[in-house]
Amino acid sequence: MSLKLYNTLSRKVEEFHPQDAENVKIYTCGPTVYARAHIGNLCSYIYWGLLVAVLEADGMRPQRVLNFTDVGHLTSDGDTGEDKLERGAKRENKTVWEVAEYYEELFMRDYNSLFLEMPAKICKATDYIEADKQMIDILTEKGYTYETSDGIYFDTSKFPKYAEFARLDLDHLKAGARVGFNSEKRNVSDFALWKFIQPGEDHAMKWEYRGREGYPGWHIECSVISHEELGEPLDIHCGGIDHIPVHHTNEIAQTEAAYGVKMCNFWLHCNFITIDGQKISKSLGNTYSLDDLFKRGFSPLDFKMWVLQGHYLGERNFSFEDLEAAKNRRLNWKNRVALAMQKENNDEKTLEQVTDVDAPELKVLEEKLVGDAEFVHGFMDKLNDNLNSPEAFALIDNSEISLKGWKMVEKVFRLGLFDFKVPADEQLEKMRLRNEARENGDYGLADRLRDELLDDGFLMLDTDAGSFWQLCK
Ligand SMILES: [Zn+2]
Repeated sequence: MSLKLYNTLSRKVEEFHPQDAENVKIYTCGPTVYARAHIGNLCSYIYWGLLVAVLEADGMRPQRVLNFTDVGHLTSDGDTGEDKLERGAKRENKTVWEVAEYYEELFMRDYNSLFLEMPAKICKATDYIEADKQMIDILTEKGYTYETSDGIYFDTSKFPKYAEFARLDLDHLKAGARVGFNSEKRNVSDFALWKFIQPGEDHAMKWEYRGREGYPGWHIECSVISHEELGEPLDIHCGGIDHIPVHHTNEIAQTEAAYGVKMCNFWLHCNFITIDGQKISKSLGNTYSLDDLFKRGFSPLDFKMWVLQGHYLGERNFSFEDLEAAKNRRLNWKNRVALAMQKENNDEKTLEQVTDVDAPELKVLEEKLVGDAEFVHGFMDKLNDNLNSPEAFALIDNSEISLKGWKMVEKVFRLGLFDFKVPADEQLEKMRLRNEARENGDYGLADRLRDELLDDGFLMLDTDAGSFWQLCK
C-alpha cells in the first residue's frame, strides 16, 4: 500500500508521491523561543517525527527544515501586541538574544528526550533578515504591498486566491473586525511583512530597512526560509490546525505572489489537545512541561506513547489517568520485547544443538518468518493509511511479534522499547538457583530468591515454556 495523507489543500486523503524520493522536501513551523514548550506544543513534533519515520520506512529520504521564531511573533498572533521575545526578556531580566538561546536549548532538550530524529536543518528567523527584505522588495515590485505609519503590509485583495486555503469568509471577517481595526490597513485580512519601530517603542531586535528601524512580521520567515533552504514547491508543509486561517494562509500568499509558483503540494495539520477537558492556558495552571510530568513519575516517552495512541487529526484530551494507562502499556510492550529476547536466545541455543535440522523443524522456522512478515506488512499498512498510529498500536497489542518485528516497531515509533536494564550475572545466577530450587521442591528458597529478584527490579514469570524475567517498572 502506498502512503496516503490528509491534505488540507484538498480536504481529502490523497496518495502521497514526492517529487524526488531521495529528497522529500518537508518544512515544519517551529517554536517561538520565548518560553518553555508545554506538552500541547510538543504533540506536533511527535506526530511529524512519525511522518518522517514512515517516509523512511517506505524507502524515502526526507529533508526536513524546522525554524525557530526568535523575532516578530507578536502576542496577538496578528499585527498587534508585544513581540513575544521582548516580553520574555522583560519577564526574565535578560536580553532578547539570551532568552532565545536559553529556550532554543531547552526545546532541543525536550526534543531529544522524546527520541525525535533531528531535522536536516534548524533555521533561526534572525539569520534570514536580509532574505526577508529581498522578498518584500520583490512583493513591492509586483505591487502587492503598501506602507502605513507602522509597517509594510501585504494587500490581500491583490491575491485573489487569498481566502481559498482556509476557506475563509472574508465578508464575515470584515464585519467582526470593526473593533480595534487598524484604520490604515486597506483590508482586514492584510498582514504586516515588516513593522517599523514607533517613537518611544522599546524593541531590542531591530534592523534598518527603507531608512527606518524595524523588524520582520511573523509570517515572512517561513516563506523565506522554506524558499532559501528547500525551494518550491515543497512536498509537505506541517503545522497545527491553528496555523491554517492566518499563518499558513499568509505564507501561501507571500510565496505564491512573489515567485508565481505553487508553495507546497501537501499541507498537514495536527489537531489540538485539551487537558481535563480545558484549553491549555497559563491562567488555568495546566501548561505542563515534560519536567512537570517527570516529577509525577512519567518519562517523556510515556507522554510520547500517549500522543501516538491518538490520530494526529483527532482532538485529544489529556489526563494523568490516561497517561498512567499509556505508561503501563509501554511497560507491557517493553516486557514483550524482553520476553521475545529471552525466547529467541533460547531458540538459538536449541538450534545450535541440532546439527542436522530436518524438514519439519525448517518448516517451523519458515512459518515463524512468514508470520513476522505478515505483521510488518499489516503494521505498515496501518501507518501508510494516513499515519493511523492508534490502529497500528491495536495491531501490536493483538499480534505475536518476534524480536525482528519489535525492532521495526521501535524504528518507527522510537519509544525506547529496547532501553531497559537486563539482569547482571549475579541476578542470572539467582534465577538459575531459583529454577534449581523449584525443581528440587525447595519452595522456601525459591520464594526467597524470587523476592530478592523483585527488589532488584525483576519479576519472575513462570510458564510452560520455562521461567522468564520481566521488568517491574
Ligand atoms: Zn511557519
